[in-house]
Parts: sequence; C-alpha cells; structure tokens
Amino acid sequence: MTNTVASLFKNGKRTILVADDEFINRAILSEMLQDEYDIITAENGEEAYDIIQSHSKTLSLILLDLIMPKMGGLELLSVIKNRNEYSGIPVIVLTTDQESEVVSLNTGASDFIPKPYPRQSVVKARIHRAIELSEDRQIISDTQNDVITGLYTGEYFYEYAEAYDKYHPDTDMDAVILGISNYNVLLERYGKEKCIQLLSMLANELRKQYLNEIAILCHKEMDLFFIYCHHTADHDEKLQEISHSIDCVISGVKLKMGIYKQVDKNLELRNRFVRARMAYNKLQDNYVNEVSVFDDEILKKILFEEQLCADFKTAISEEQFVVYFQPKFDITGNEPVIAGAEALVRWCHPELEMISPGLFIPLFESNGLIYELDDYVWHKTAAAIKDWRGRFDKKIPVSVNISRAEMYDPNLANRLINIVEENGIEISDLHLEITESAYVSDSSMIIDRVNNLRSKGFFIEMDDFGSGYSSLNMIGELPIDALKLDMLFIRSAFKNQNMKMLDIVIDIADCLEVPAIAEGVETEEQYLKLKESGCELIQGYYFSKPLPGDEFEGFLR
Ligand code: C2E
Ligand code: CA
Ligand code: CA
Repeated sequence: MTNTVASLFKNGKRTILVADDEFINRAILSEMLQDEYDIITAENGEEAYDIIQSHSKTLSLILLDLIMPKMGGLELLSVIKNRNEYSGIPVIVLTTDQESEVVSLNTGASDFIPKPYPRQSVVKARIHRAIELSEDRQIISDTQNDVITGLYTGEYFYEYAEAYDKYHPDTDMDAVILGISNYNVLLERYGKEKCIQLLSMLANELRKQYLNEIAILCHKEMDLFFIYCHHTADHDEKLQEISHSIDCVISGVKLKMGIYKQVDKNLELRNRFVRARMAYNKLQDNYVNEVSVFDDEILKKILFEEQLCADFKTAISEEQFVVYFQPKFDITGNEPVIAGAEALVRWCHPELEMISPGLFIPLFESNGLIYELDDYVWHKTAAAIKDWRGRFDKKIPVSVNISRAEMYDPNLANRLINIVEENGIEISDLHLEITESAYVSDSSMIIDRVNNLRSKGFFIEMDDFGSGYSSLNMIGELPIDALKLDMLFIRSAFKNQNMKMLDIVIDIADCLEVPAIAEGVETEEQYLKLKESGCELIQGYYFSKPLPGDEFEGFLR
C-alpha cells in the first residue's frame, strides 16, 4: 500500500518520526520542528520500527540517527527501503561522520543532516525539500496510470501522445475511441467486480492488439478507452479480436469504436479526439460491434455548428431571429375557431438563409446560448401579444416553448414574470409548453418547478406527449393544464390506420380533465377523426403553417 498525499495531513500538519537514542538530540529537533510538524520520537531502532509499522500511512518523513541500540540506523534504513509499504517514506540520516553519509545515500536515504545540527533554517529547508520531492513522486505515480487497467490516465496520455508527435511529425496517426455498449446496464446486472474484470481484460487485449505497432493507450472514463496509434486499416479486425477475447468474462458484450483516421496534426490533440468522439457518438446503442469513421459529413456539421455559435451574438443584436406564430383552433363547436397560437422561432441568417429551429435549438441547449435566445423569443412574443391587444378585439393566449435546459434555472419564474410585466400583458396571456421528456429526466425537481410556475398563474401545456415514456401512474401527479399530443404519434396512428392508441391518449387527457391538443394535423381526414374522438384543439398545416406576425394577424381580424 502506498500513502496518498492527502492522508499525510493530521490537523493540517505532517508527521515526522525522530529516531535518536540521545535525549538531547530528540529535544533539539522537536523544539526546532514542532511549530510546523507533529513529532513522534523513538529511543532505539526497534521502537522506531514499531512506530513505522503502526504509522506507515501517516508518516511524511523519518529523521534517523545511524548509531542506536537494539537496531542500528543503517539496518533499519535497509529494512524500510526493502519493504514496499514503507519504501515511499523519505528518510534523512543524522550523522557525525562523512563515510556513512555515502553509505546511507546508497541505501536509500533522501538526504543527511550532519551533527552537531546546523541552523534551524537549514534543517527545515532540507526537510521541506525531501518531503516535497517524495510527495510529487507519489502524486505522479497515483495519476499517471489508471489503477484498474494500468493504462495511462487522461492527462498523461495527452502528454505522451504530444511528445510522440514532436519526434515523429510526419507519421500518419489515428485517434480511436473504443467503448462498451450499455456499460451501466452491465454494471447493474453483473456487479462492479465483474465489470472491473471486464475492463482489465479489455485493457490487456488492447495491449495485445495495438502494442505490436506504435500506440499509446488510455483508460479515459469508466467504459471508454482512447488509442493514439500509427495509421492502420485494421481497426475493424482488432475490434473483432478484442471482442472475441473478452467474451469469456461477460458473454455478449458489444463494443463500439469511433475513428478519426490520419489526423490533422494542426489540430490540438484533444480536438482530434473530439472528432473521434463525434464519430463514436453516431453509433446508437446497438446489438452488433460497430465502427464509425469521422468523415466530411460530420466535419460539415461541426463547421456549420461552429458558424452558428460564432454568429449568435450578431444575430441577436441584429434581430435575425424572427418569431413565427402558428394558430391553434378549437374544434369542439360546429366551426373551428382560433383559440391560441404557438410562437416558433426561425433564424433568417444573411448567408445561410432561413434556418429551422431543429438545427440550432439543440445546439444552443447544449452550450447554454439557449437562455439568451429564449429571453429574446419570450420578449418578442409578449410584445406581439401586447400589440395585438391594442389593435384587435380578439384576445388569444400565445404559448412559448420552454427548453428543457430552462427547467434547471431556479430563476425561471421570475424571468417570465418580468417579461409579462415589462410588456404590460397578463400571465394568463403567455402559455408555457414544456416537453414531456423534461418531466421524465429529473422528475421531482421539475415537478416542483412546474408547480411553482402554475402557482404564479402560468398555464402549462405538456408538449410532445407520447414521446417521453412518462409512466401512466405518474401522469396523474404531473402539474399540467393541457396535453399536446406528439406529432409523430398522430402520424403513425393514421399511417397504420390504428386509432386505438390515439383514442387512449385523448381519454387520458379526459381523465386528467385537461384539453387534448393535436399538433401536426395536415389533412381533413385527420381533423375529422380527431374531432370525433373528442380532441379539443388542433394545430397544423391543415389550418396554417407558422406565419410571421403580420401574416398571422389575418386570423385576428
Ligand atoms: P415543437 O414545439 O414540437 O413544435 C412543433 C413543430 O411542428 C414546429 O417545428 C412546427 O413548425 C411543426 N409543425 C406544425 N404543424 C405541422 C404540420 O402540420 N406538419 C408538420 N410536418 N410540421 C408541423 P419547428 O418550428 O421547426 O420547431 C421545431 C422544434 O424546435 C419545436 O418543436 C420546438 O421544440 C423547438 N422550438 C421552436 N421554436 C422554439 C423557441 O422559440 N424556443 C425553444 N426553446 N424551442 C423552440
Ligand atoms: Ca411546442
Ligand atoms: Ca410538440
């Protein structure tokens, strides 16, 4: 067992053992050092050894007199340095004669302090240095290699890979990420011990497959391995071999591999692995081993996304984001009547033309820009509601989409209330659409937050209902005012001419005593069927596409 550096501190002080048979020497050293260190003393070699055995995990240093009764210092030193569990503790030898300095340094002492002792500052400086050196060494060996696999850990992996590149600038290299499908499931099912066995076996097989050629291997995260190696066309075969070999630990384990071939060395090393990761991420959980290679299509997507992020600030300040409105119709009466609208954002980009939100919303959700965009859309929507209120008789609520990321903002309700107040509208004018999957991800926190919004008076529509797998018994407890059925769900009902599920979902809304809203309604057939099933509200191309504000006004006249 080696010490970890953190365990060496007791009450914020490191501990030093002073082993010397002369009382006066022990007293002088204790006096010199006790303001900074916890001091333990021993009068002879055997006593010192007992203390080392019982305190091995907390000793930062041993000050060792060479000539002592029962066991001499040199003998003790060689015992310490030959035992794995103690060899990491630095030893400074206390001695009068120069001959034994050399012998003790050769036996493993870190340094020596001559007797009579030099000035306090000199003694302390030597002690500091010996401790520091040994702790640095400890930190390095703790972090350089992964405990489970013996492969490099992340930081060292990058360092070695960079060093390799430096001396081989013209060699073609591949960046590869290898991972285990559904590792969490395996962990659940087979337990930690078996999974650790799996990881260490996998690491061994990686060595076998890759270390014949030049390769640097790393165990990155629990189920992920990074490989930086000479370019080869054989990754597929290697993967099959590895997969075959680990089958004896847990059978049927599937591996995935993302490869960035012949890396561009102008890119930082980490970014080369970002590319391998993108290839890797394209592989959904699946039931066969799979390999995915970074290609132009992925590159194009990255560049596109980079451009969107770079252009975001300008787009906000130049108002390139435009809010469209799509009407919702109440179909419970003889004639459909407009009963509300949904605000949907578009990006009128000067070079890329109109970009649909499906391309930038998930991106901005992942990097946090969504907060600024949502604020913008909510403001524009509230301003439009206010404007229409002044010019038309008809008063309809407009819903805005609340991105999943927003649900983690404890200040969400205040932001929305401010927007309502600043624009001089009412809370009941601004409905909120919250996607079903948001409720599923961290349900109790989200439910609290939604309850809070409702208590302030906001009307909550659960969006994309039917896509998020919320369990039926949970639905009864969810705070909602309307159910918006997922579009794909409706589509498949009509495609397969199987209305049963659709009827059930509408019944669920009925049970919850909230209206059902169907979106994505494109045909008269769909409209009539939904009406017959008791669906109250409808949104879709059948009535209108989302429209810019001025065109939407037609519905209000
Ligand atoms: P969503 O909230 O489910 O919005 C419905 C989507 O269906 C909209 O796509 C709408 O244009 C489209 N749609 C409406 N009727 C029909 C129809 O009859 N047929 C078909 N095929 N599609 C129809 P859009 O505008 O592209 O928005 C996509 C998603 O982006 C939205 O899905 C929403 O999740 C998100 N989104 C849009 N605007 C915003 C926004 O301002 N903030 C946030 N956070 N998300 C937004
Ligand atoms: Ca929506
Ligand atoms: Ca929806």
